[in-house]
Amino acid sequence: MASKLVAGNWKMNGALADNAALLRALAGAGDLAVACSVCVPYPYLAQAHDCLQGSAIMTGAQDVSEYVAGAYTGEVSAAMLAEFGCLHVIVGHSERRTLFAEDDRQVGRKAAAALGGGLIPIVCVGETLAQREAGETVEVIRRQLDAVAEVLGGEALGRVVLAYEPVWAIGSGRSASTEQVGEVHGAIRAWLRERCAQADAVSILYGGSVKPANAAELFAVADVDGGLIGGAALVAEDFLAICRAA
Ligand code: 13P
Repeated sequence: MASKLVAGNWKMNGALADNAALLRALAGAGDLAVACSVCVPYPYLAQAHDCLQGSAIMTGAQDVSEYVAGAYTGEVSAAMLAEFGCLHVIVGHSERRTLFAEDDRQVGRKAAAALGGGLIPIVCVGETLAQREAGETVEVIRRQLDAVAEVLGGEALGRVVLAYEPVWAIGSGRSASTEQVGEVHGAIRAWLRERCAQADAVSILYGGSVKPANAAELFAVADVDGGLIGGAALVAEDFLAICRAA
């Protein structure tokens, strides 16, 4: 059985004073039945770690360098993130793939770097609307996953978290239907079973317009082991309601 995880992705949002209020509300939530994490912008990692210490919520980051150390201006290594108490790091988010030209193999190298630094990568995959309409959804996702598997190998694959985020559902207010989510999560589980002995222990998150109103039905779908939450993670009561729905 895969363990459940709800991770918030703050994206490039936040400011010290606003974060303090949000983090205080999250820290005061008491016990949560599933693992929960907030992936914040790099400059706010220390603030998030301090505010959430002793609470049920962990901290994470939104990207990591594929390199270990050295002359890579602007990059942040997995070891640096670990020093700030990060446990999770998102890699291969569609915004990084589309806006910053990250390709499938680079996503694999970033996942490997995260594991090498003791972090858990949350590896994102997902199809565009054009790819879905062309009937290519499962093929696209298998190709994205294959590249990660080639870099990582089967054993390490068992130590990542996967997130299915259809590009057209991100920030659109329109989540994938439970049928669409079930089909893709089932295909991802089948793909894992072809490659990895721990396939059933790998958590597969759904992301894309998850909100308190639809979280419970999405999380009830087979092979959905939690969620990756964007906009709703910026509102404490919404994020906590989603955490409680998992
Ligand atoms: P929204 O929840 O805002 O659609 O964003 C999803 C996402 O991109 C999480 O990584």
